Amino acid sequence: MSTVPLHIRMHALDNVAIVANDGGLPAGATFADGLCLIERVPQGHKVALLDIAQGAAVRRYNVPIGYARKDIAAGSWVHERLLEMPGARGLDDLPIATAQIESMPPLQGYTFEGYRNPDGSVGSRNILAITTTVQCVAGVVAFAVKRIKDELLPRFPKVDDVVGLEHSYGCGVAIDAPDAVIPIRTLRNITLNPNFGGEVMVVSLGCEKLQPERLLPPGSFQIVDERNVADVGVSAEVPLDVVCLQSEHHVGFMSMIDSIMKTAELHLERLNARQRETVPASELVVGVQCGGSDAFSGVTANPALGFATDLLVRAGATVLFSEVTEVRDGIDQLTARASTPEIAEAMIREMAWYDAYLQKGQVDRSANTTPGNKQGGLSNIVEKAMGSIVKSGSAPISGVLSPGERLRKKGLKNGLIFAATPASDFICGTLQLAAGMNLHVFTTGRGTPYGLAEVPVIKVATRSDLARRWHDLMDINAGRIADGDATIEDVGWELFHLMLEVASGRKKTWAEHWKLHNALVLFNPAPIT
Ligand code: CA
Repeated sequence: MSTVPLHIRMHALDNVAIVANDGGLPAGATFADGLCLIERVPQGHKVALLDIAQGAAVRRYNVPIGYARKDIAAGSWVHERLLEMPGARGLDDLPIATAQIESMPPLQGYTFEGYRNPDGSVGSRNILAITTTVQCVAGVVAFAVKRIKDELLPRFPKVDDVVGLEHSYGCGVAIDAPDAVIPIRTLRNITLNPNFGGEVMVVSLGCEKLQPERLLPPGSFQIVDERNVADVGVSAEVPLDVVCLQSEHHVGFMSMIDSIMKTAELHLERLNARQRETVPASELVVGVQCGGSDAFSGVTANPALGFATDLLVRAGATVLFSEVTEVRDGIDQLTARASTPEIAEAMIREMAWYDAYLQKGQVDRSANTTPGNKQGGLSNIVEKAMGSIVKSGSAPISGVLSPGERLRKKGLKNGLIFAATPASDFICGTLQLAAGMNLHVFTTGRGTPYGLAEVPVIKVATRSDLARRWHDLMDINAGRIADGDATIEDVGWELFHLMLEVASGRKKTWAEHWKLHNALVLFNPAPIT
């Protein structure tokens, strides 16, 4: 990092820039353009480039991120207390599919080694997932998973892992409430994630509200047993494989464990027979999100991820971007980028639903920001949102998923998809798993050890200081962009290549290496009983 005072302005019409130097800069520091700081400004925080009169717009990303509460002199620290936050953009009169987006040239010849599934999806890992209907069985499943890993997994070297899909849902909930559809379809669709190879097995308690056939009704999934295909020459649908703990034939705890292990063994055998094969990069389904954001998120990591998003879309892959409260303030940009009016309308519907959901709790989208965001220089949700949207790159938006919906069920394949989810890291990741992601990219400025057992998570640091301190947790350092050591394009390409390596199983992410696994956290807007 250079010791020369350095600020980064995002747009020529901005009247603030952020201080790039590690540790911030003291009063008196003078930039190359002659601007002199009249007070200390921490790293990532904003400096006024011009005198800003009381009431005038403070612009970053060429967007008013707030209005000055008093006169601000050039060279001042523009912190959150000086800014009046703009109101949320209404959902009427938005530009609908108006952006004239030049079509990007296709990117050909990129491949990875993946596992093809009977339903046509492709996995990046070969994992046995044990679905659970209710939290009551979590302890039993955890016990069984440990024994499966210790005693069975060594015999099935082609299987990467065994994962119990444990969660807090399934009983004690108003299961017929309209919004209960969200947690239920989320669980169903996670069960069908491409990394589980279509091998569905369920552990149920017996008396719970979420009965196995409600979670996975006939026709909601199709599992084809390859051995049956060979035997009878036609695809045979396999019945749902359920171990029910309250079933009368279980006498004692070990009977339950034996039963889970016996069922698991059948699925492990089939998973172990699978081979990676070369597939086009278009089979990637990449969920992108950020967490622990700072002012560099929108300068380094998210623009590099946005560049990689464009590469993926050009290669025919699917990219899921999410986090409703972090795109709400840029809704006009997104509706303009919708490839059809129907897609723009679907996006507006999701925003309106979420506005009402927040209103019921007597908050608005500004409840999103954290103390860490503010320490990192992000004054409010408008500024955070502008930096967050950059992850989506510049492609047209070609589809919308409601929370917990699955790409395949909706007939969506390829392109940039808005998957509506809360911005909460663990809930967003859980819903992107349900949507069908086979790879996750996560950018962070403050730092998070986030990881998932179900898909590899590539983590991108926004600052070199974080990348240095968390050298064995961060997979890519986008801070080099702020240091002047790499361009957005350089880091975007690096990320793209890393995605192909990780999807192929040739490289492990740090979160995989250390087995850092966050819990599945369902989005349940319906009442608890
Ligand atoms: Ca997030």
